Amino acid sequence: MGVVIGSEHLPKFGATKEERYDNLLRQDSRLAPVAGGAERLTPVLEYTNYQLVSDRMVGPGWALVGDTAGFIDPVFSSGLFIGMHSAFALADAIRSGSAAAFRDYEREVTHHLKIWHEVVGYFYDGRLFTSFHVGHMLRDNLLMRLAFPHVNKHMGRIFLGAASTSPYSIRLLRLLVRHGLKDEDPRAMAIR
Ligand SMILES: Cc1cc2nc3c(=O)[nH]c(=O)nc-3n(C[C@H](O)[C@H](O)[C@H](O)COP(=O)(O)OP(=O)(O)OC[C@H]3O[C@@H](n4cnc5c(N)ncnc54)[C@H](O)[C@@H]3O)c2cc1C
Repeated sequence: MGVVIGSEHLPKFGATKEERYDNLLRQDSRLAPVAGGAERLTPVLEYTNYQLVSDRMVGPGWALVGDTAGFIDPVFSSGLFIGMHSAFALADAIRSGSAAAFRDYEREVTHHLKIWHEVVGYFYDGRLFTSFHVGHMLRDNLLMRLAFPHVNKHMGRIFLGAASTSPYSIRLLRLLVRHGLKDEDPRAMAIR
């Protein structure tokens, strides 16, 4: 059983991660009825960042798909999308059966995960919101008015998944978050 919780709430449950976990299960009104009397058999693992991209996704007689291949912070609901997309790509590789098809599968999924990792990074480091803010500030600028529908279309397509691996859309996003911030400091909108 895993629990996602803000770190500021943890001290009231105890000093160690084991105490905190056990007490949380005993004291939380929702968890206590189902797990309050449970005996913990394993140590408690604590993650502050559970994102990962596996180094290898295929081998003799096995392949990883979904969260086992890589887990990206689900802030943009990329988890199910990548999982389903990878499942179709893996099915194609299995149907083909060649070593090259499995290598292509691994390359494609790794690329997809790394792009989402990058996009999620812009969300947390404040660049994404700062670029929206700057776009809003400059909304009366003629150039911005002309560019806005184009930019808007590509950003929407990235976050919906339709263009999350489109080289052009991703380059446009990078341009915005790296060079479109004017003199604004993105750290002001960073999420910690
Ligand atoms: C807190 C949280 C919020 C999230 N929010 C979103 C969201 O809003 N939108 C989104 O798209 N994604 C979200 N995700 C991510 C999303 O849930 C995952 O990316 C997605 O479920 C991955 O699917 P999967 O099939 O790879 O793995 P899972 O959904 O984890 O499925 C793996 C299954 O394998 C089973 N299993 C494990 N070991 C064995 C075994 N030895 N034998 C048999 N079965 C086994 C497990 O019980 C499980 O049912 C969220 C994740 C978390 C943790």
